[in-house]
Amino acid sequence: MSTETTSAPNFIRNQIREEIEAGRTGKIVTRFPPEPNGFLHIGHAKSICLNFGLAEQFGGDCHLRFDDTNPAKEEQAYIDAIKEDVSWLGFEWAGEVRFASDYFDQLYAWAQHLIREGKAYVDDLSPDEIREYRGTLTEPGRPSPYRERSPEENLELLERMRVGEVAEGEKVLRAKIDMASPNINLRDPILYRVRHAHHHQTGDKWKIYPSYDFTHGQSDAIEGVTHSICTLEFEDHRPLYEWFLENLPVPAKPRQIEFARLNLNYTLTSKRKLKLLVDEGIVDGWDDPRLPTISGMRRRGYTPASIRKFCEMIGVTRADGGLVDIAMLYHAIRSDLEDNAPRAMAVLKPLKVVLTNVPEGHEETYEVPGHPARDDMPVRKIPFTRELYIDQDDFMEEPPKKFFRLAPGKEVRLRNSYVIRCDEVIKDDAGEIRELRCSVDFDTLGKNPEGRKVKGVIHWVSAEHGVPMEVRLYDNLFLEEQPDRDKDADFLEHLNPESLVVCQAIGEPSLAEVAPESRFQFERVGYFCADRHACRDGKRVFNRTVSLKDSWAKVQKKAAQNQDAQKKGGA
Ligand code: ATP
Ligand code: MG
Repeated sequence: MSTETTSAPNFIRNQIREEIEAGRTGKIVTRFPPEPNGFLHIGHAKSICLNFGLAEQFGGDCHLRFDDTNPAKEEQAYIDAIKEDVSWLGFEWAGEVRFASDYFDQLYAWAQHLIREGKAYVDDLSPDEIREYRGTLTEPGRPSPYRERSPEENLELLERMRVGEVAEGEKVLRAKIDMASPNINLRDPILYRVRHAHHHQTGDKWKIYPSYDFTHGQSDAIEGVTHSICTLEFEDHRPLYEWFLENLPVPAKPRQIEFARLNLNYTLTSKRKLKLLVDEGIVDGWDDPRLPTISGMRRRGYTPASIRKFCEMIGVTRADGGLVDIAMLYHAIRSDLEDNAPRAMAVLKPLKVVLTNVPEGHEETYEVPGHPARDDMPVRKIPFTRELYIDQDDFMEEPPKKFFRLAPGKEVRLRNSYVIRCDEVIKDDAGEIRELRCSVDFDTLGKNPEGRKVKGVIHWVSAEHGVPMEVRLYDNLFLEEQPDRDKDADFLEHLNPESLVVCQAIGEPSLAEVAPESRFQFERVGYFCADRHACRDGKRVFNRTVSLKDSWAKVQKKAAQNQDAQKKGGA
């Protein structure tokens, strides 16, 4: 049975509900604004679920808008992957996909507008000088010597920048706000930089590109976004966001609301660091099943529903700095697969068993439910023969007391079949166990042997009918909870050398032909997903999505028990 999970608080949802009930907001419009400079990760999933979820819940629209102001780092491949990820999660954006670059003409006109109003100027200071003039948190900045240029001169210089007559780094356009502002973002922020770069959407049209700050809020305004939801690091940018909306003839006044970003333990949620793992070949591309990218999670076997459920479980707050336990994510997928994944038997580390009292050529077939609680899943046919495989871990030559599996002279039940006893252990010259000779008690099919207690049940596969397959056991990519906590150290030092272990396994015949991305519980082993690439090429490769043990549910149960005990103690 799966553990029920309730959703955590979401202050933005509550706030919007109040606004709607009080009639202060009509139809809401949100947006998800990725920069196409990498693949999306679980942190983005939180933002996607929030923005699209609000639109769904309150009958509004959510736009997908690429924040594409930095052509040097952006690529069409990232755009395609991001669209696929959002759709795969089950969300639909309103209208066409949008690009901030669609608004470059309008933004340029607004830059000219600011110049005419005396609120922007072209600056010839170098990037280093600009930094130096900007001051610090404790010291005010100083005005640039170019700050008082006339509007006419500024308009002409900006135009020269635009057409490519100015070299990169030679001039920038800045807003003229307040060099002494306690908020550094208001100390004449940069609006345009010269960049002679080819852009994936606008080609070679532009030789200047607007800054994030000059683009974001105005794009929101152009699109009629009502709630511009972003992560807390933009809180200090909000006064600037609002300054642009106040000083430009924008068609709407969106409101920026910040929330805490998601940080997950034992992994990284930074595109830059994930890109490093990909570029260095430490993982197998952006959709390596160990990465917290949406495409990696998909390849690992996560369902869209499980990711959405996880995002609901973590809630939305403004409390920054917390690490979410990855066990919670594992819990979300595990409970989904528990209810929905058909069962199968697969032996990861095969050990041959010969049943000496079963004649050669003997065969019987068991019909077994696809899922213990779901009669809509097809029945599996399990053949039983003289030779079979069990898992090496289910046998011990010298077992400790509580080992309820197979050992010399001991009995165990083969799942869905007979009780067997181990009579002999066959070893090779090196002393390695090669094979077990066992005998079947034919009186035990579907019932307990009289007078004897057989506690253990193990899984197995017929040697004759089993299918060879590759099984990839994935584990956390890092051994440290917060691999990048120490900013000066190299997070690669904390890589888990056993984050991927490959097994040559044997599965029951129902696994012979599986569709890419079909998911299974391998009984007693864990949840697995047919690799979406390899299985399309006719290979049989399964990725472990998650193990069976639910540490998060256990922690929750314990916490609940403690609370109960406290209540009782207090009463
Ligand atoms: P990264 O830090 O990984 O490079 P980013 O913020 O630069 O991510 P964007 O493409 O700009 O990536 O992000 C798109 C949206 O996703 C933004 O609104 C951003 O605030 C949000 N987002 C990014 N990371 C997280 C996170 N860890 N938790 C919640 N939201 C996030
Ligand atoms: Mg960003």
